Amino acid sequence: MTVSDRYAVLFEPVKIGPVTARNRFYQVPHCTGFGHLRPRGHAAMRGMKAEGGWAVVCTEETEIHPSSDLSPYSVQRLWDQRDIPALALMTEAVHQHGSLAGIQLAHNGHHAPNLFSRIPPLSPSGQTIEDLYPRQARAMTRSDIRDLRKWHRNAVRNAKIAGFDIIYVYAGHHMTLPHHFLDPVFNQRTDEYGGCLENRVRLTRELLEESLDEAAGECAIAFRLAVDDMAGANGMQAQEEGREIVEMLAEYPDLWDVNVAGWDNDSQTSRYAPEEGYQESYTAFVKQLTSKPVVGVGRYTSPDRMVALVRKGHLDFIGAARPSIADPFLPNKIRDNRVEEICECIGCNICVSCDMTGIPIRCTQNPTMGEEWRRNWHPEKIQPKSSDEPVVVVGGGPAGLECALQLNRRGHNVILAEASGRLGGRVVRESQLKGLSAWKRVSDYRIVQLEQSATVNLYLQSEMDADNIVDLGIPHVFIATGAYWRRDGAGRSSRTAMDFDTGISVMTPDDIMAGLTPEPGPVIIYDDEQSYMGGVIAEQLAATHPNIRYITPAGVASAWTSNTLEQHRIHSALISEGVSISTNQTVKSANNHQLVTQCIFGGKDRVYECNTLILVTERQSNNHLANALLEINKSDNKFTTLEVIGDALAPGLIADAVFYGHLAARNFQMDPEMVENQLFMREIPSLTG
Ligand code: ADP
Ligand code: SF4
Repeated sequence: MTVSDRYAVLFEPVKIGPVTARNRFYQVPHCTGFGHLRPRGHAAMRGMKAEGGWAVVCTEETEIHPSSDLSPYSVQRLWDQRDIPALALMTEAVHQHGSLAGIQLAHNGHHAPNLFSRIPPLSPSGQTIEDLYPRQARAMTRSDIRDLRKWHRNAVRNAKIAGFDIIYVYAGHHMTLPHHFLDPVFNQRTDEYGGCLENRVRLTRELLEESLDEAAGECAIAFRLAVDDMAGANGMQAQEEGREIVEMLAEYPDLWDVNVAGWDNDSQTSRYAPEEGYQESYTAFVKQLTSKPVVGVGRYTSPDRMVALVRKGHLDFIGAARPSIADPFLPNKIRDNRVEEICECIGCNICVSCDMTGIPIRCTQNPTMGEEWRRNWHPEKIQPKSSDEPVVVVGGGPAGLECALQLNRRGHNVILAEASGRLGGRVVRESQLKGLSAWKRVSDYRIVQLEQSATVNLYLQSEMDADNIVDLGIPHVFIATGAYWRRDGAGRSSRTAMDFDTGISVMTPDDIMAGLTPEPGPVIIYDDEQSYMGGVIAEQLAATHPNIRYITPAGVASAWTSNTLEQHRIHSALISEGVSISTNQTVKSANNHQLVTQCIFGGKDRVYECNTLILVTERQSNNHLANALLEINKSDNKFTTLEVIGDALAPGLIADAVFYGHLAARNFQMDPEMVENQLFMREIPSLTG
């Protein structure tokens, strides 16, 4: 059996009501940060997925009315006909590659703060909105419900004009009015839209009926339902009301798109949901209750698992958001028998963080994600070399690996020298920490390809100094020597080094990753960085050390990780592991087994017993080599290219290191003026309309 026979079932066409998907790969709706503000970037990114073989490519949620205004976040918008041209850019880009375009219509009810439109938000029963803005939604009257149905119908009509093939009714993530009406926590109405389940389903049923009517058999109507809140008896459960809803509406939509709620459960990171298919136990029942096709998600990247899902009758379509972001060409690679080239999602949710911070999407694994239009980057294509000159890359972390890989793809002979005995740099080190093992895919994916290339020479155990590099006689050098964690306490809260007396052993994350363990006695982790590292170390050490305290100047543990939907899980894990948590505290001094902190708002100092202080504050670029080479170049212009990349240039996320490695490879020997002047294209607001 050839590989393509083995996976042939994944490439069968599947009917969705009146339209047909060319295969079973379905990019479910997912946020991108492009939204209505950046339609060209959005269209190009979705078009790339269609080119990569996804048979269905959907938008993110699409506001259907100014009373559903998610500003300042930019999602899609179909308030009226003026929004059609921007959305049509996307349908055209998707159709160009023979795929179907789907649109997820949404009225966000009290999830939409309406900060821009200033319209009082709507809700079934008049509750406080989700945003912290001190405002309450008003309870919808029957006339409001009629209006909502009219807006939804208008949006279906306009979506058809924009060229969409699949149009959603969306009851998921606790983010839309249909979901709010279904959920008794939000719906306390006493009329025919509240109370028993039949009544709570009424609005969804009406929206489905009216959407089908408006679609008039020309496009399909999909229903996205979160069948379980993953909160046990405290929320909707797949085997109770979730099941009953599917039974009631089984044959209404042309397609069921099923998942779990809220978004943090649906898009769990690999740190807390390491296995692909983590939603299967909740959603598998749906297909038994309907004859209509079903799509579900679960960070699927393994084609064998996908085949099994179809054969077992769990799903008709392999749904994906993140796997399609990490590798827009995943379907084509399976089809073309190139499974080992799949760039697998690592489940880090850096993509999600972009939506949370209102910027265009990016991805740790795929540096071209979000750059399709503005930088004209393609994940599978890169401009060929403009000379035959070889290059040297020093450092085999994510920046060096990506830079080497892309330079080699351009056609250059590459020497990659790595000081340690292993490629991967920080990725290999960090992936040994609790819950982060999937991150190793970042280096694995690149190493496999570099090892297969006849024009790449990989040298391990090769710590390079300036003389070694001069001796190579190659004038093009990329320095990717990384960074190390500071041991002096300088960071966000204390911009200068702190004074530590003896009596406390000071460690850094590098020590923990190198396998060193804290001394017996109280251990304090000072997390001034406030991203994942401090929380991971606290959680890991808690398993072996009884006395761990986590101190941070932020109000919560690992504050930035709210952007990756992990913060509450991290904070809960620390509590359940017995870690003591002190928030809003900065370190004042550390002497004689005592750590003194002060509250950032004032008040009395606190004193904690401390034998080991683990400082998670800031990193320092490892730029000795770069400085030495720059010095040589001042007097003797040996190097025409001397580029510092990744953490050696400026420490950041792994995603940043990969991105800068990629950027440097793309820009190599390009006209410098062009590189400087055309950083990227911008979407300038039109002054019409
Ligand atoms: P980045 O995230 O920028 O890729 P990393 O810290 O992950 O940075 O990787 C940097 C890599 O560079 C590490 O694997 C380290 O061993 C290697 N390295 C540092 N200095 C040298 C050197 N002088 N010669 C070769 N390799 C080096
Ligand atoms: Fe996956 Fe991380 Fe890329 Fe998101 S950013 S698609 S979670 S690898």
